[in-house]
Amino acid sequence: MHDDTRRLRRLLTKHRAKICFATISYHGGRWWCALNVEAADLHPLQQHPAHTDDVGGWVGVDRGLSAFLVAAADDGTEVARVSDAPKALAAGLKRQRRLSKSLSRKKKGSHNRNEAAAWLARHHRRVANVRRHFLHQVSGELVKTHDRIVIENLNVAGMLANRRLARAISDAGWSEFARLLKYKQAWRGGQLVEADRWFPSTRLCPECGVVDNAMTLADRVFTCGCGYSADRDTNAAANLARWGHTHHDDDLHRSPDPQAGGRATNVRRRDGAGQHPRVGETSSDDAGTDVHTAPAA
Ligand SMILES: [Zn+2]
Repeated sequence: MHDDTRRLRRLLTKHRAKICFATISYHGGRWWCALNVEAADLHPLQQHPAHTDDVGGWVGVDRGLSAFLVAAADDGTEVARVSDAPKALAAGLKRQRRLSKSLSRKKKGSHNRNEAAAWLARHHRRVANVRRHFLHQVSGELVKTHDRIVIENLNVAGMLANRRLARAISDAGWSEFARLLKYKQAWRGGQLVEADRWFPSTRLCPECGVVDNAMTLADRVFTCGCGYSADRDTNAAANLARWGHTHHDDDLHRSPDPQAGGRATNVRRRDGAGQHPRVGETSSDDAGTDVHTAPAA
């Protein structure tokens, strides 16, 4: 094993998890073993407490233009801005071009060609590792601090058809990010809703409700005829938070989560927060087992 399995072994010996099956695969020049594990719910300390009121606490998360993401509350306050997305793909692109050129020059079936193919695969794996690690970190932080999250329902496939945006979007891995957010939020008993696909979060004025259809990608600041203005990304995130505020009791918008074992996303434990993990619970120390560190080699 290359990865640290200490947490997993502890879960297994304490009978808080069991391995259902293992999948062996070979890619990027390495053998991989993926374990499918059935584990107990997160410890109550790791879960979000139930809301006493039923209105507040919504946070909208928007994919920023220059930032990876911007999060804002429904009153327009920015609560998080993650700007340092590793442009893993862009930075590695030059190297990738060199490696694939080198591969194409090698004679088919030769030892050199096999070696060049292995270098290229290794490079792809590194880029993927950096990206995955980043997405796990950011999604983990968000679900820790916010129990009610609204994200855009992105028609990602449709956007990929636009060649200019294609690289930037796949680099940011936004749909993968949404997937991680969904299951991590479900683990913690929080809520995650997707705003309607046609909700104009970027172009909507929260003051007068006018939608500015003339807005372009170049406009960094949202300015409305009524005098309201705000940072483009912050305004979009705040509008998403407001959407959650007004639509949250609509069950249709609650995201079903296949990885949560059919548990509704807002189910909460009523048995209080014990200090010590009991059998049938995943302790605070075990949470985060899903985060991989990027292998050094
Ligand atoms: Zn306005």
